[in-house]
Amino acid sequence: MFARDQRTIAHLDLDSFFVSVECLHDKSLLGKPVLIGADSDRGVVASCSYEARKVGIRSAMPMRMAKQLCPEAIILRGNSGEYMEKSDEVTEIIREKVPLFEKTSVDEFYVDFTGTEKFFGAMKLATELRQRITAKTGLPNSFGLEHQQDGEQGGHQYREA
Ligand SMILES: [Mg+2]
Repeated sequence: MFARDQRTIAHLDLDSFFVSVECLHDKSLLGKPVLIGADSDRGVVASCSYEARKVGIRSAMPMRMAKQLCPEAIILRGNSGEYMEKSDEVTEIIREKVPLFEKTSVDEFYVDFTGTEKFFGAMKLATELRQRITAKTGLPNSFGLEHQQDGEQGGHQYREA
């Protein structure tokens, strides 16, 4: 992790990542409760759509419980190879634009905008990066921006979805 003082860092997150990748192939999934994971007694939810989260389903929940909460949910086994490929695509888009970033999971990145100096300059760049990722991959994403100076406690924070 970066030192947090005097840094402007955007935390960028791909929204409902696995489900969003599935929606690229099958638009009929959009707006529906979709669960990714094994549909078995010991299966767990690896990822779920916003509509599934609305009824209380969460990642890592037993699939059996998720099905009780939402019997009409669409359950997909998922394709980890393809998720990795899409994640790499996003990584390359970030790498093209920003010299310093850290990938902390398949769908999470910390991007350093220090040096753009002003908070609103960093916000503009982060917004452009977010839009570029969506335009090139079709994947929705959001970011939160944090800027801290020496001695400052909370810093400025802003979240864009
Ligand atoms: Mg995510």
